Amino acid sequence: MTLLLLALLQSPAASLGFEPGSDSLLADWTQVSTYMNGLAQHSPYVHVDTLGRTTEGRPFLLLTITSPANQARLAAIKQGQRLLADPRLLTEARLAELRTTQPAVILISNNIHSTEIASSQMGMTLAYRLATDPALTRLLDSLVVLMIPSMNPDGLDTVVSWYRRYKGTRYEGGPLPWLYHKYVGHDNNRDWFMVTQVETRLVTRILYTEWFPEVVYDVHQMGQNGVRLFVPPFQDPVNPNLDPALVAGMNLVGAQMASALYDAGLTGVAHQQSYDLWWHGGFRSTPTRHNMIGILSEAASARIASPITLAADSVRQPPRGVNYPGPWPGGTWRLGDIVRYELVASEALVRLAARDRISFIDRFVALGRRQIDAGRAGHPFAYVLPPPSPSTQRDPEAWATLANVLLAGSVEVWRAAEPFMAADRAYPAGSLVVPMAQPFRAHAKDLLEVQRYTPVNDRPPYDVAGWTLPLTMGVRADVADAPFSAKLVKVDSVVPVPGRIEGTGEMFVLKNRTNAESRAIAALLGAGQSVTVAGDSVIVRGPQARRILAEHAALHGFRVMAVPVASVAGKTLRQLPRIALYQPWTANIDEGWTRWILEQYGITYVTVHDSELRRGKLRQRFDVIVLPDERAPGLLQGVDSTRIPLQYAGGMGEAGANAVSEFVRGGGTLVCLDGSSNFAISRLNLPVVNVLGAEASGPQVSRFYAPGSIFGVALGGVRESPVTVGVPDSLAIYFENSAAFTVSGTARALATYPAEPLRSGYARFQERLEGKAALVDVPVGSGRVILFGMRPQFRGQTHGTFKLLFNAVLLAAP
Ligand SMILES: [Zn+2]
Repeated sequence: MTLLLLALLQSPAASLGFEPGSDSLLADWTQVSTYMNGLAQHSPYVHVDTLGRTTEGRPFLLLTITSPANQARLAAIKQGQRLLADPRLLTEARLAELRTTQPAVILISNNIHSTEIASSQMGMTLAYRLATDPALTRLLDSLVVLMIPSMNPDGLDTVVSWYRRYKGTRYEGGPLPWLYHKYVGHDNNRDWFMVTQVETRLVTRILYTEWFPEVVYDVHQMGQNGVRLFVPPFQDPVNPNLDPALVAGMNLVGAQMASALYDAGLTGVAHQQSYDLWWHGGFRSTPTRHNMIGILSEAASARIASPITLAADSVRQPPRGVNYPGPWPGGTWRLGDIVRYELVASEALVRLAARDRISFIDRFVALGRRQIDAGRAGHPFAYVLPPPSPSTQRDPEAWATLANVLLAGSVEVWRAAEPFMAADRAYPAGSLVVPMAQPFRAHAKDLLEVQRYTPVNDRPPYDVAGWTLPLTMGVRADVADAPFSAKLVKVDSVVPVPGRIEGTGEMFVLKNRTNAESRAIAALLGAGQSVTVAGDSVIVRGPQARRILAEHAALHGFRVMAVPVASVAGKTLRQLPRIALYQPWTANIDEGWTRWILEQYGITYVTVHDSELRRGKLRQRFDVIVLPDERAPGLLQGVDSTRIPLQYAGGMGEAGANAVSEFVRGGGTLVCLDGSSNFAISRLNLPVVNVLGAEASGPQVSRFYAPGSIFGVALGGVRESPVTVGVPDSLAIYFENSAAFTVSGTARALATYPAEPLRSGYARFQERLEGKAALVDVPVGSGRVILFGMRPQFRGQTHGTFKLLFNAVLLAAP
């Protein structure tokens, strides 16, 4: 029987017709998933689950690879992991039993970044070897290997089909003109605490509600010219919420990998490259806030599947040393090399976790216990999110979303059944409480507290420096440092208390303080109701207004005042503005997030490309054009035709830029997100200066620098622009190497930096922002330009500033 099964068990090469990692040959998702499903059918070591569908509808797979005996008791093993992850549930007797019977659980995730393609191919070989090589199969009584063959199957197919199409041409292995994830491209690995995307949600559920692996290994590639493979130890700094034993555990796994690679005669393996332990949102970093060892490897890339050749002196590598004992001699580097390095690293982890099973279990339990003990000790003891009310909690939907983000990460959230006192403050029933005495405390605390990044050796952080959700989402979350008592009920999900229409009459007043009101305004305009911006309110009239508002208010928790119909002074819109969102052929991630946000709020738009801009007569077709964050040369010149096929090359060019200019002068509204502001300032001769643009020329150490931080801005009392209707007087905005403006003439600064504006993250020379504008409204001809020196919809996280973008495209339309 066993012999028969093995005979049916095809190697990847036999199934595909080529060895994974062969030059210029790639398996697409159909081939990878067919292979994995076949393996599961014929091997007692391999089980495949389809977790759900991807954004574009492909099956999303998880492999569970372990011994046949373990396969027969997966439910019991999962239950064991749940107990180890939450030591409050664990008796000493049960722990003793699990130390004898429970396998270690590791998760290996491939190909989250689709152009980092080698791991999607490597996974087939790894699965086959785990199922057939006696040196590995014998480890599988002590180990469960969870494997995600591709974290983004849509993107794998996008990259493979592009590669196949241009193989043998000058564009072989060149860049894609669009994102490899429908909405978020490369940012699919920056979504792990916010969990906005389908794939992130599928895997988050596996990690924190089903499997609780002790180790998570994320397999990546980087540029072509550096070291051949990075493995931990990571670079400093270390986030304060990471336990020393967790950091040492990551060092241990990385050292094991490097040792195995050098033992195998491979060179160019380095520790302590650019990847640090500060940021929260990556696939290897969010698990570390869940007591899981998070591992990253980054291999040097080829040209997708085409080999490259590098002379030794053209490789940027550190000198030989303890972090880099064997420099790479240079030469030809191919897909098969990357597959081999990744395979050796993965198998090193498999051997370590099987051999040190009990250490991994003990460490996981100890980390959870220390988190719980730290929470009991207080400072902070809990966070309290008061329930929505006009004076304390502005946006019920943002409040509920923040709680649901925590719940998705398996943080325990409780609702107060009765009023209570905490830290000398009175809270009403309905307040949400996040106690810190829980195993995933680090996750909750790191999302709720302020970040204070301190550079080591003047290095910037690898990703952003700050992410404090109460600030980005505009949600009040109070710290209670010491214990308090309250009657609490645990919640599974949070929805806003239904809002309603108050008062009588058929004219409706919206305070426009919530994002959901923008969604309602889009729906009202879509149904042809009239919407008037009058002072600090939005007035709605029309035969369907009551029905639409009642539905939206009930679902999303905002209040509407009904008043008798009267005449109202102000600008009135009677239909949804015709919104165009420009999509450059540069695979612009900000464009993707903008598209995603507009869709989430039911704001209809059309996508326009270079050719449509160049054709001109834009004012006849559109009321609003949105330019995503992109450098001016990217907008004007795009990608060069030596690198990308002609139909995607050249940017909008002079013709497109002139057409945009004509659109504004002819009465259109141009919305420029961050980098594209520079384009508008120069092309339209706006009386505005980006004072940080000039910074680019000074020496590095004397430049203003803020790589991803949260700043406060003041909006002031008098509101002349529809862009700020309903927005509070002070606001936390997201800044990522953004612009900052001075204005003159007719330009109006809508939001201005106070002294010392940094709220969370890091900024060098933050005093240079004082008095500068983060948001500007400029009349031009009969139209207007709205310049954002910030990221109002950053990575789908900044609920506190979505409103500015919604107002710009809905209420500031002509
Ligand atoms: Zn990557």
